[in-house]
Amino acid sequence: MRIVLLGAPGSGKGTQAQRLVERAGIPQISTGDLLRAAVARGTELGRQAREAMDGGRLVEDSLVLGMIRERLGEPDTRRGFILDGFPRNLAQAHALERLLEALQQPLDAVVQFDVEPRELVRRISGRRSCADCGRVFNMLTSPPASSESCPRTGAPHRLMQRPDDNEATVAERLRVYDEKTRPLIDFYRARGLLRVIDAAGDVDEVTRRLARALGAPLRALRGAKRRAHKGAGARPTHHKPTRKRAARQSPGKIARRKRAVARKGRAVGRGKARRATPAGRGRLKGRPR
Ligand code: ADP
Repeated sequence: MRIVLLGAPGSGKGTQAQRLVERAGIPQISTGDLLRAAVARGTELGRQAREAMDGGRLVEDSLVLGMIRERLGEPDTRRGFILDGFPRNLAQAHALERLLEALQQPLDAVVQFDVEPRELVRRISGRRSCADCGRVFNMLTSPPASSESCPRTGAPHRLMQRPDDNEATVAERLRVYDEKTRPLIDFYRARGLLRVIDAAGDVDEVTRRLARALGAPLRALRGAKRRAHKGAGARPTHHKPTRKRAARQSPGKIARRKRAVARKGRAVGRGKARRATPAGRGRLKGRPR
């Protein structure tokens, strides 16, 4: 699954991306996080990016694109990725399209997080992240549980506010989003990739909406994961076979299932066997008695 999460600052892309990482086992690629890491390490790239970030403006395309090219070349992106905060303008979107074409890894979906501006400001003011593990919390909507500790240090999370989460910079970031990033909605709609979700309200509810919006790819991914665990027999299909299709694909399967059901039927009685083998339920109905 290769997806882009699109939305204004504070729309919850990062929070939901982290949840998707846990569910889907594919990496989150946040250009904001990569840039902040470069700033913290004091690299040349970080030095060049810092001023734009502090002012709430976009960092130069060439810097961001170089970073993305490098990141998408890493092996953990082979099974998919979640782009969070990238692309952010039309030039970046075109560049991404060309890059993914060259890698033969086209996007599956672009999800736009829809939240009204007043709510965005409220959320950003409550946002904190752990200085050690980077996990994002919101003191108003999703504070860390009192029992929770940082997976990196084992101590309670060290919560910090981002330097660009101040009022003046937030206003500029929202303006930049409207001017430069919002046009990407039409760009991806024209390509048939766009899905819009209401990103207001409860975090778990937004996760459910996101999963629904990604329904087909997520299901495909779970199937792929199971097959991968089985090892050599893993097939690179993008659809989990339906029961009917699976049966067609392996002719011995129905006979094996019938024998198994018959064995159980003898042991525990037909009614119980039917309940005990939900997978065979449909076929059992028309079974000769
Ligand atoms: P948010 O989405 O809350 O604004 P991010 O962490 O995604 O926060 O980004 C923080 C800052 O990093 C942005 O304001 C911008 O300066 C810079 N940045 C992040 N991603 C990009 C990008 N794709 N292109 C240019 N600048 C970026």
